Amino acid sequence: MPTQTTTHTSLHTPIPWHILGAGSMGALWAARLSRAGFAVRLILRNQARLQAYEAAQGLTLVEGENCVLLPIAAQTPEADEPIARLLVACKAYDAETAVAQVAHRLTPDAEIILLQNGLGSQQAIATRLPHARCIFASSTEGAFREGDWRVVFAGHGHNWLGDPQPGAAPAWLEELQRSGISHEWSQNILSRLWRKLAINCAINPLTVLHNCRNGGLKAHRLEVDALCTELSTLLESCAQPEAAFNLNDEVHRIIDATEHNYASMHQDVAQGRRTEISYLTGYANHAAISLQLAVPHLQHLHQRLCAHLLHRGLPCN
Ligand code: NAP
Repeated sequence: MPTQTTTHTSLHTPIPWHILGAGSMGALWAARLSRAGFAVRLILRNQARLQAYEAAQGLTLVEGENCVLLPIAAQTPEADEPIARLLVACKAYDAETAVAQVAHRLTPDAEIILLQNGLGSQQAIATRLPHARCIFASSTEGAFREGDWRVVFAGHGHNWLGDPQPGAAPAWLEELQRSGISHEWSQNILSRLWRKLAINCAINPLTVLHNCRNGGLKAHRLEVDALCTELSTLLESCAQPEAAFNLNDEVHRIIDATEHNYASMHQDVAQGRRTEISYLTGYANHAAISLQLAVPHLQHLHQRLCAHLLHRGLPCN
């Protein structure tokens, strides 16, 4: 595997981007950062995955008609290189364990960028690593794996990054700019993540239960509305009034705008992949329980979804 060379010049030694997980999002970030000349190291699960990656000679990014093979350096969690900047690109259910495997390599001032959907995994990592700066991200970009180490950039979008603790925007945002990664610093990233979680809770599970595209939910308007009402109350009770604002209207706008699409959770279930349910409806229900807030529709939705997943042989956590 050729070692990554960088064209990035700086008065300071450039800090490499360690990217934990080389799936869809990990590859998408790695490819763009590496193409722009920044030092990137992929951290793969184990020696077997590293050997498979080396046999493929790098990551392939497919973008429209273009397809580029990038020989990005890779390592396992056991490598001894210190990590000062870690982008966590695993699924929410893998993120905490994966970070724990490299925790001993983090520098005292390490920054960790968490790309996970939903809520819960980010807080678990921040609690486990109180000395690291944990930056939460919310992305509307879309990518999928066409095969191992081959990722298709399917939907251009935007990334919001923010620190739930007060703090200035990091200087490395400029590296995202130079890599063509559309982004902005969010002063209220939790609100953004809660809003996305609520939209996901109102749409994704119902598309699984009714086995339909997003547009199919137009035939289940009352069910969607009942969920939006409970989710809005929950968001307000969690001190996230901005995330609650006009939720119902936005959910219906999204259903209309994406009527021909299958939701990501629907695709996961259809392909027999584990879902991130614990970090979506599971998280929302736990929040309601801890506030002693009654959310019967949301609770019933979570139970129905769990039963459906178990019936299909998939985990319900
Ligand atoms: P993915 O394609 O399944 O990739 C996850 C990667 O994590 C896999 O490559 C997996 O390795 C790796 N991994 C898991 N445990 C690991 C460990 N202990 N050490 C090293 N690597 C490990 O998932 P994704 O679609 O990129 O999603 C990542 C997160 O981004 C999710 O929370 C998702 O909801 C969110 N997101 C995704 C998209 C999208 O379009 N894909 C958009 C917005 C947000 P193996 O290859 O060995 O299994």
